[in-house]
Amino acid sequence: MLLPLLTPGSSSLSCGRVSEISNGWVTSSSQARAVGVNDMSSRERPANCPVCGSTSVARIDYGFVVVSSMAAELDSGRAVLGGCAISEDSPKWLCNACQNRWGDSAREFSESDRERQEDLARRDAEARARGVMDAPIYPDGWAHCPYCDFSFNTVGVSWNGERHMSCGTFLRLVPSQ
Ligand SMILES: [Zn+2]
Ligand SMILES: [Zn+2]
Repeated sequence: MLLPLLTPGSSSLSCGRVSEISNGWVTSSSQARAVGVNDMSSRERPANCPVCGSTSVARIDYGFVVVSSMAAELDSGRAVLGGCAISEDSPKWLCNACQNRWGDSAREFSESDRERQEDLARRDAEARARGVMDAPIYPDGWAHCPYCDFSFNTVGVSWNGERHMSCGTFLRLVPSQ
């Protein structure tokens, strides 16, 4: 099974070689969100390669990463780039000495994904608790969300007919000049 692939929010992004967006996963909804994978990983970093015992172990990072923020790790061999896709058998660690690969990146991704789902559920509950808010809509189709203070085009993906998708708020569109 392949886990959901990463969809860049911008065509200028490429796997493993980007200078912007999050150091972590970009979801299919294009909402870049750092998931703290690297913080978690550094605490778990194995001291030795289980095969040859070398202490030169690199973390394999998948998806879109901020290369500039990882430059020291990449240069020192503490991290390598694993590319876009991650699957159940994607390794997490690489031995720089014998090239042995081991560990479970997919499990880590699943945990991050669960956190993201919980975050979405919490945002949804908060939006429902706020109730429906009045939002001005202008003749050009743009509306202004009073909750997050952003304007959005009602014919675009930011509006699903009842909610401002960016913040989840339920809106009643009120024509305005
Ligand atoms: Zn080794
Ligand atoms: Zn909003």
